[in-house]
Amino acid sequence: MTGWEPVVGLEIHIQLKTQTKMFCRCENVWGEGPNTRTCPVCLAHPGTLPVPNGRAIEWAVKLGLALGCEVAERSVFHRKNYFYPDLPKGYQISQYDEPLCTAGRFAVPGSGGDHEIGIVRAHLEEDAAKTVHVGGKAGRISGAAHSLVDFNRGGTPLVEIVTEPDLHSPEEARRFLQLLRQTVVELGISDAEMEKGSLRCDANVSVRREGEEGLRTKTELKNMNSFKFVGDGIAAEVARQIEVYESGGEVGQETLHFDPASGRISSLRSKEEAHDYRYFPEPDLVPVEPPAALVERMRAEIGELPAARIRRLEGELDFDLSYGLVASGRDELYERVPGERRAVANVVMNQLAATGAHPGRVNAEELGKLIEARDRIPRATFDEALTAAGEPGFTAERYLAEEAVTDASELDPVIERVLAANGSQVAAYRSGKEGLLGFFVGQVMRETQGKANPKVVNERLRERLGA
Ligand SMILES: [Zn+2]
Repeated sequence: MTGWEPVVGLEIHIQLKTQTKMFCRCENVWGEGPNTRTCPVCLAHPGTLPVPNGRAIEWAVKLGLALGCEVAERSVFHRKNYFYPDLPKGYQISQYDEPLCTAGRFAVPGSGGDHEIGIVRAHLEEDAAKTVHVGGKAGRISGAAHSLVDFNRGGTPLVEIVTEPDLHSPEEARRFLQLLRQTVVELGISDAEMEKGSLRCDANVSVRREGEEGLRTKTELKNMNSFKFVGDGIAAEVARQIEVYESGGEVGQETLHFDPASGRISSLRSKEEAHDYRYFPEPDLVPVEPPAALVERMRAEIGELPAARIRRLEGELDFDLSYGLVASGRDELYERVPGERRAVANVVMNQLAATGAHPGRVNAEELGKLIEARDRIPRATFDEALTAAGEPGFTAERYLAEEAVTDASELDPVIERVLAANGSQVAAYRSGKEGLLGFFVGQVMRETQGKANPKVVNERLRERLGA
């Protein structure tokens, strides 16, 4: 990588969780039986007409505002023409040169300050149907015996976000995407789950010599379905391009597939140009002209965004912890749990997350008690308590009962009793047999049925016997 700079822009599709589809009244749900949520509009029967979903337009405006975009006073739907079995109309209703939202800036906090990512546009469109390839490897079309089409997804609302090529490492791309996802989730407009396909990401990747002006030919990596694959895929493609240039070759413009299992990149097709799609204004729809009052209403609905919270938390935690808490949506629980901030952050971010407990269901007060006592109870008990922390009615009490006794006022009488009952050993210890300390500790532990903290017992005994 030395001497080369990766240049990455992302194209992100976000499926809006409106009740109904983008241009018809079919229910917009995931996971129902195939082809059970369709109608003449989304199946493209002749003579049917699209009617835009008002809520989808509102939410696209809201998202645009959260991305720092300008909301267009006039925006137009276009037909993007292409043939594929998942597109019964033969075109997708999308937006072209008059998108709803443009020219945004999205700040991603970094350890050395904010990194601003330019947002070229955020526009509304309808999703295609889902094709299922049967009999091939890993659901891919190559080698498949046949393909099935599920039209439930056809016509559901999508926002497509296009960034400027402002990302300069796989790590930056992954962080941007995680923060964008959390922002979308908090706006309440999408589940944005990569594994379900309600958040999809393509990356445009090129490289250039450090200090070089301008951009070289880019390739497009399609459909990476986890944050890790986005990072790994970009890293693999950057490495490939550098190798091509360094061996005297040229990078061609093409669309690529990254196979996360093998780490290999393969070519899907040579990249099509915009004119291949014969875009033209959708004659069945009037332009979208969001009234100023609607835009202001959406702006008022936006709360404190994740980027601002990361900066706020950075005052009390280091950058990685504050970023991790906010980007995973765990900072809300963190803020509610009382106790030493770093200890709470670590437990909420790492150990509690590993148990799979839903942060919204955890009793913050009880978790705080547990964290406060965590050095005094056995590790296995603490882990067991964390596993139960998300269950209804959870209290720390049962686990705290296993807390070791460290309180001198409780231990001292026991120590006195043990010393009084073992006079000859005490005399032997004082005359130099210091190895007997272990014997006294053992006696105290037995008297307290193992509940005493051995370290404290040790200290108190030394103090008492040393006199
Ligand atoms: Zn429909």
